[in-house]
Amino acid sequence: MIRYDLHAHSTFSDGLLTPAVLVERAAARGVDVLALTDHDDTAGLAEAGDAARAAGITLVHGAELSVSWEVHTVHVLGLNVDAANAEFAAGLASIRSGRDSRAVKMGESLARAGIPGAYDGARRFVTSDRLISRSHFARFLVEAGHARETRDVFKRYLTQGKPGFVTHAWATLPDAVAWIHAAGGLAVIAHPGRYRVTATGMRRLLSEFRDAGGDGIEVHSSSHTTAQFTEYATYARAFGLLGSIGSDYHGPGESYVDLGGLPPLPAGVDPVWTRW
Ligand code: AMP
Ligand code: MN
Ligand code: MN
Ligand code: MN
Repeated sequence: MIRYDLHAHSTFSDGLLTPAVLVERAAARGVDVLALTDHDDTAGLAEAGDAARAAGITLVHGAELSVSWEVHTVHVLGLNVDAANAEFAAGLASIRSGRDSRAVKMGESLARAGIPGAYDGARRFVTSDRLISRSHFARFLVEAGHARETRDVFKRYLTQGKPGFVTHAWATLPDAVAWIHAAGGLAVIAHPGRYRVTATGMRRLLSEFRDAGGDGIEVHSSSHTTAQFTEYATYARAFGLLGSIGSDYHGPGESYVDLGGLPPLPAGVDPVWTRW
């Protein structure tokens, strides 16, 4: 059986491993088909492609797009994209462009909460000059002793209502889907179980997503419990969406589920990879 992992990060966004090391790790763990899905960027794909050829596995070109939907931030994976597509590349650039000023504001917010120097501190953890994220602030806050591990940081800082959180306007859901489709890719809602919405809100999200032309949802995600695997398989069938599998791996010590660590999709869910 072919093992798929269609959601992973490298040092070109907030992952800890370079694309080459990430791909080698995936191959060593028995992954046959890996998608590199850095946040709002595709700059790691060239290196990942070389490594995948050397390791004899298949690399799917992807990205994870940051989207604002109602009051929520929702992540939409673009899978099997042509990263050179101009409309797609311009869309990603427009999402990235707001990140630095947001980070400056996050630093100011943390300073008001008694933590000075967070912007410069987070910058020291940045591994791509194209992108700064909350993960880099989280690593700084752990290093500076404000929390024991990354998970605790997000509970105490950096999330809605906590110091360090700054409201930000990302891409719209229809724009993100349109950019992904312009690049010939499939649009997949990442880790649906993570969004703080009611069942009604989830149905509204999935119907708006489907109306925008969205293709699939991550059924098996490291953010999901086994009960949620079943729940999102049911949503996939009910909304006529394809299913995907993604560990959302960020690196050793930061991710519960390693590359290739999730089970195959249940029967009755059409996998995204049947469409490429
Ligand atoms: P950003 O795109 O800058 O808002 O950063 C989002 C990233 O922060 C996500 O992709 C995760 O890598 C990380 N993150 C968000 N929430 C958590 C959490 N509760 N625990 C660990 N990492 C998180
Ligand atoms: Mn991330
Ligand atoms: Mn995400
Ligand atoms: Mn991710």
